[in-house]
Amino acid sequence: MIDLFEFTQSGRCALPVGAAAPKSTRQVTIGWKHNHVRVGGGAPVVVQSMTNTATEEAIATAVQVKELALAGSELVRITVNTPAAAKEVPAIREQLDRMNIHVPLVGDFHYNGHKLLTDYPECAQALSKYRINPGNMGGGKRRDDNFAQMIDVACKYDKPVRIGVNWGSLDHELMAKMMDQNAQMAQPWEAQAVMREALVVSAISNAQRAEQLGLAGDKIILSCKVSHVQDLITVYQDLSARCDYPLHLGLTEAGMGSKGIVASTAALSVLLQQGIGDTIRISLTPEPGGDRRQEVVVAQEILQTMGLRAFTPMVVACPGCGRTSSTVFQELANDIQAYLRDQMPVWKNQYPGVETMNVAVMGCVVNGPGESRHADIGISLPGTGETPAAPVYVDGQRVVTLKGDTIAQEFQQIVLDYVQKRYAP
Ligand code: SF4
Repeated sequence: MIDLFEFTQSGRCALPVGAAAPKSTRQVTIGWKHNHVRVGGGAPVVVQSMTNTATEEAIATAVQVKELALAGSELVRITVNTPAAAKEVPAIREQLDRMNIHVPLVGDFHYNGHKLLTDYPECAQALSKYRINPGNMGGGKRRDDNFAQMIDVACKYDKPVRIGVNWGSLDHELMAKMMDQNAQMAQPWEAQAVMREALVVSAISNAQRAEQLGLAGDKIILSCKVSHVQDLITVYQDLSARCDYPLHLGLTEAGMGSKGIVASTAALSVLLQQGIGDTIRISLTPEPGGDRRQEVVVAQEILQTMGLRAFTPMVVACPGCGRTSSTVFQELANDIQAYLRDQMPVWKNQYPGVETMNVAVMGCVVNGPGESRHADIGISLPGTGETPAAPVYVDGQRVVTLKGDTIAQEFQQIVLDYVQKRYAP
């Protein structure tokens, strides 16, 4: 069987057919202890996420960071909004270190970041990167001073920054100035186009200012987040064409459930296919009581289904139809996907390459055997009126036919045996 994914030594898959080569960007390293996450410069696209706990609650925040990291988030951002939050950041870092979780922490600052980073040097040291929003730093000279103060801290502790511009907090003065200039043009742009241009100008000009203030060019990542798909694509295409800073992609305020997932996927897929984007975050609004790790799963699935990276064995399952009268195959597909994902924190070290495995769970004989043969392991469950037996295919060959009430357990054991045999070093 031909592997769909071929990996280079850097961990990036060989370029999928139709995808553009990644845009050439500088490489920024974000580290904590021995863990160095590389963003840009040809490194695999990095998955990141953000906590939604109150940072003052150090234990709860450390626990959520750990969950996100174990789910596969390679960077985790936490809100640092108050003196109490800044004070707890070193405790969160220590707690994570004690749990052997060395994921780099990114501090998210707005309004008072200059003061918090200066007043709480241990917080500044415990963080591995600072997110700076130039639109939320006051106006005029005060904004310039506050920005310079944050860049000074980044230089002092040798930390990278993300200059993250957001259309919900765009620099009002810059926007007003550009609107005035636009109004004087013979053929003025639409207001939306001026807004997009202002986002790009704000991001690049602040990055250039950070460099003038002494921060190295390979310590700067940019983002320009908006909440409409077409605007996001246009803004990032423009940003990518006009600078070589690594780009953090994300559709801000993407929304809940399928809307948030679809909108984020639509926007990011277009850009990634064009080779634009070095790190991604999916900004999903969780359902009440929902699992924050979903944003990590979605980010990984976008990259994996596009053939850009592999994280977890993928399960191919048919949608089911009138030929299936029971939910057995739906439950099996769900259980096996959950089982594979749960094993990955251990398997990824024990069984290198297992993340590229394909498993098929099919509902009847129409496409079941064919799809199963194409997977590394496949099972074709019986449809309505078919003999109550489930043939299992391994590497394209029918190896066994399962029957009875223990099909799910037996199939899981076959998957485990296959992983141990094929992927053991
Ligand atoms: S494989 Fe069978 S059960 Fe599944 S969608 Fe196709 S026809 Fe329906």
